[in-house]
Amino acid sequence: MTVRVRLAPSPTGTLHLGTARTALFNWLFAKKEGGTFLLRIEDTDIERSKDEYLENIYDGLQWLGINWDESPTIQSERINEHKQIIKTLIDKGFAYKCYASEDELDEMRETQKKNGLAPRYDNRHRNLTPEQESEFIKDGREPVIRFKISDQKLISWNDLIRGKMTWSGKDLGGDMVIARRAPANSIGDPLYNLVVVADDSAMQISHVIRGEDHLANTAKQILLYEALDLNIPVFAHTPLILNSQGKKLSKRDGVTSISEFKKMGYTSEAMANYMTLLGWSVPEGMNERFRISEISEIFSFKKVNKASAKFDWDKLNWLNSQVIHEMSAETLLENLNPLFRENGWRLPSQEWGINLVGLIGPSMVLINDGVDQAKPFFEEPELLEDGKKQLEIKEASVILKFILEKLESSDAAFFSKEEALVLINQATKSCEVKKGLVMKSLRAALFGTLNGPDLIHSWVLLSRLRKDRARISRVI
Ligand code: GLU
Repeated sequence: MTVRVRLAPSPTGTLHLGTARTALFNWLFAKKEGGTFLLRIEDTDIERSKDEYLENIYDGLQWLGINWDESPTIQSERINEHKQIIKTLIDKGFAYKCYASEDELDEMRETQKKNGLAPRYDNRHRNLTPEQESEFIKDGREPVIRFKISDQKLISWNDLIRGKMTWSGKDLGGDMVIARRAPANSIGDPLYNLVVVADDSAMQISHVIRGEDHLANTAKQILLYEALDLNIPVFAHTPLILNSQGKKLSKRDGVTSISEFKKMGYTSEAMANYMTLLGWSVPEGMNERFRISEISEIFSFKKVNKASAKFDWDKLNWLNSQVIHEMSAETLLENLNPLFRENGWRLPSQEWGINLVGLIGPSMVLINDGVDQAKPFFEEPELLEDGKKQLEIKEASVILKFILEKLESSDAAFFSKEEALVLINQATKSCEVKKGLVMKSLRAALFGTLNGPDLIHSWVLLSRLRKDRARISRVI
């Protein structure tokens, strides 16, 4: 079978983690099978669909390395085909016009609730006589179009992830609305289940891979495929992504958009790696840190869990730090430099930048950590409590005065690590103090705190910006 899969995002919001994970599973499966991965933009909700969201979806997928084949299908451009299919369903007796008003439907649901029944449409207009219909039309009622769902029908499919699935027609809420209200002589806007079947069939989709929240839709869609005598694709329903409390991951959990993860400093590689692990288990003996291009050779739905996947920040952070630590200094600098520029920070030279990332890279978890850690090199640091205390020690100013004098008597604009070490040893001897005291005092003067990366390395970098003397002078 030629594999053709698709992602069908609605541009009514930014690219969500769950949608991106669905995209990834589709993409991995297509790659593994030598198939085609397509995009379909489900933009029929005109009021909520926005160009900026569409851009965000395209950007997010590209950032993650998920490329699509062929140009995307735009659902709203196919409305005439959708309406034609609805007409066919009416002509063949599979669908009909339902004139029940919203008030009548509310009342119906209220009665069901009172009697302890689940709300469902009671199929009251399934068999209207032509006389009844013309009465409703005369009253000016606008019908929806409903597709008949038999309560007796059993629907089953072999889900690639969940195995054999069976749904009963009676659990699908009665005859399903496939087109919105519109004057009786026309067909209103076609709705989700109908358009998905029409488009998946027109795009010759072989496998529909999507979230488990679409299980009931799949049952309804299979009925439409059967009524229209179309080939039914294979289905695979991916597990939901839950937060740490075991609830479906939602906006309330803070970050859910791919663009937000990017903004926080997660790398595309760690995100793609982590999202694959949200549901898929690595084969025994394989490391959980991988590139998606490596996985595409071994990806299989057999290794996708039925159980929901819990979102684990620690694991994502671990993967992100791995990706950062594997980066060459040049690549890491390329990632950081635009962020430096946003802050108005300029590198004195490429070599200085490479040295800086060599210093801060090993302790970075997020790309943005690099900004925080580079800040004291570019901006005057605040004097924090621990730094202040250190500088209050009476030998501190003696030590710092000694170092400053030495710096000022030197002609060199900056110095090397070796020279820095010599200077520290001289200060230790001459001021008759412990080396630790020299180091701590110098760190407090240069960076305002006792925490931070390697002091000698940091000092050398700072000296190249000619900032060390001024910083020592301000505290003595
Ligand atoms: N637009 C739907 C969604 O984003 C598509 C679901 C499907 O794949 O059929 O949930």
